[in-house]
Amino acid sequence: MTPDPTTTPPAEAASAAVPDPTGPFGDFGGVYTPETLQHAIDQLAKAYQQARSDPAFDKQFTQLLRDYVGRATPLQSAQRLTEHIRAADDCPAGKGAQIWLKREDLAHTGAHKINNSLGQALLTVRMGKTRIIAETGAGQHGVACATAAAFLGLKCDVFMGTEDIRRQQPNVKRMELLGTRVVPVESGSKTLKDATNAAMRDWMATSEDTHYIIGSVVGPHPFPMIVRDFQAVIGRECRAQCLDQIGKLPDHLVACVGGGSNAAGLFYPFIDDASVKMVGVEAGGRSNQFGDHAAPLTYGSPGVLHGSLSYVLQNNDGQTAPVHSISAGLDYPGVGPEHAYWHDIGRVTYTDCTDHDALEAFLLLTRTEGIIPALESAHAVAHAVKMAKDLPTDQTLVINLSGRGDKDLDEAIRLLGM
Ligand SMILES: *Cc1c(COP(=O)(O)O)cnc(C)c1O
Repeated sequence: MTPDPTTTPPAEAASAAVPDPTGPFGDFGGVYTPETLQHAIDQLAKAYQQARSDPAFDKQFTQLLRDYVGRATPLQSAQRLTEHIRAADDCPAGKGAQIWLKREDLAHTGAHKINNSLGQALLTVRMGKTRIIAETGAGQHGVACATAAAFLGLKCDVFMGTEDIRRQQPNVKRMELLGTRVVPVESGSKTLKDATNAAMRDWMATSEDTHYIIGSVVGPHPFPMIVRDFQAVIGRECRAQCLDQIGKLPDHLVACVGGGSNAAGLFYPFIDDASVKMVGVEAGGRSNQFGDHAAPLTYGSPGVLHGSLSYVLQNNDGQTAPVHSISAGLDYPGVGPEHAYWHDIGRVTYTDCTDHDALEAFLLLTRTEGIIPALESAHAVAHAVKMAKDLPTDQTLVINLSGRGDKDLDEAIRLLGM
């Protein structure tokens, strides 16, 4: 039988060739995968190490981020949202932080995902491989990979649960238009976790010519590091833009956390700036009951999922929990291991936001700024609005607007009863 790539225990992890099998994020991360993936993972680690020290790779990636993705994305002052907060009855005089938006929604394909997909697609070419595979839930990472594949002439198969295929038809069609094959996954809850298992199984058999592009800062090392590095362009730009446009570093950063890639991308370049406080916002779903949310750092415990040790939503037997969120992109029972580390050392604060509050913030940003955010990003907006009311007006708060809301229009219209 094929070993289960999601829960292979540490004792079985073949780690001889991996420099740091138990890290590199404190106790978290590591390589908890079946032996069959060891070669592909080593090869990736080597290719990435070489690429990272090759100025030509950096030049190529930076140029594509500019010319193809449209970077740098703007840092925008959210003046009307700020005024709305300051004018609210529950906002004391002298309070109401100045809110800024990092506009990842303006990146090509409408979210931050393309930064990572393009970077890893370039690595694929460097490794001499011709095919990429990916898992997708809402379809955003699938679309980003399909786009990178079309642009670079790679073959692309995207694994997607049949439940998500049903719910996310426009993105399925977008991928197919781009020349990608969408592979239906019938197992389990037929959603993201199952699609990830299927993609890992495919990779075990195909890694000779195939690279698996994981869509967030999850999976076995070095994936969480690679994805973070490719997304860190968000934080590097933001840091420079703050110094240039505000004249100082921001006081607070707020980002939503699914697997954690947009948050890690924003936070990482600020980690050594002790004055900058950071908050990651998980999906609080319908309630704080097991199965009603997708907030592992808020309600979960350490465990192994998809090849690494991090916080996971699991029952007492270590069985992964069913998850729920209004936003498909946050609907995942695990979280990146570096977030588990930042959580435990207290560098980043994590909290959650309910479906209800996210939907309210979705409408608020739409009406005050004329920007329809992704429902994922609306979680960050909701929490930022709450925070801002207790902060002095001279403090600044940057929200990572991870994506645009076009994909969520049907769902939002239905939930708002319009
Ligand atoms: C996928 C997605 C997310 C969640 O993924 P992270 O890895 O946590 O960033 C958030 N926002 C948008 C717009 C997404 O597409």
